[in-house]
Amino acid sequence: MILMKDIIREGHPNLTKKSKKISLPASKKDQELGVSLLTYCIVSQNEELNELYQLRPGVGLSAVQINVLKRIFAMHLYDFDGTLYSYIISNPVITYKSKELIYLNGGEGCLSVDRETEGITPRHKVIKAQAFVYDLNEKRFKPRELTLKGLPAIVFQHEYDHLEGILYVSKLFDELPDAKPLIEKETHENSL
Ligand code: ZN
Repeated sequence: MILMKDIIREGHPNLTKKSKKISLPASKKDQELGVSLLTYCIVSQNEELNELYQLRPGVGLSAVQINVLKRIFAMHLYDFDGTLYSYIISNPVITYKSKELIYLNGGEGCLSVDRETEGITPRHKVIKAQAFVYDLNEKRFKPRELTLKGLPAIVFQHEYDHLEGILYVSKLFDELPDAKPLIEKETHENSL
């Protein structure tokens, strides 16, 4: 199981490197990697378990954050309407980005960034992506087109940036006149 000690932090050179595509069908190792990333997100959001294992809650985690430069990430979050967005994603390509920009009002957080950061990060309000999404029952990645809006779109873009070697700390702004706030800070406590 992934623990905080396994997560590389800001300053580690691999966090600014571009991750490589995985070959499909995915090896058992790559499948297990994806499942372990998703497991971290789920376990870290459980109050009893995250205390037991000393995990910082996270709604997303990329392979590079555990020092594996592969284009795989997991996301696990409930949108405000209660819809669960839970995916293990590999080799994603963003095919559409809305012109409309949004940001998390209190700014983003990241399991690889230990310090408090000031500023907000622009994200596209709606994105479409072609990706290979892991099917936990069939135990294989299947091609799928995802359309995401709002919070899940922000999480996806944050994780996608990790695959490109980009940390949100390089995209911090004091204000974004052309973007709209998504939510108040108090309502999101989990890191991406
Ligand atoms: Zn992050």
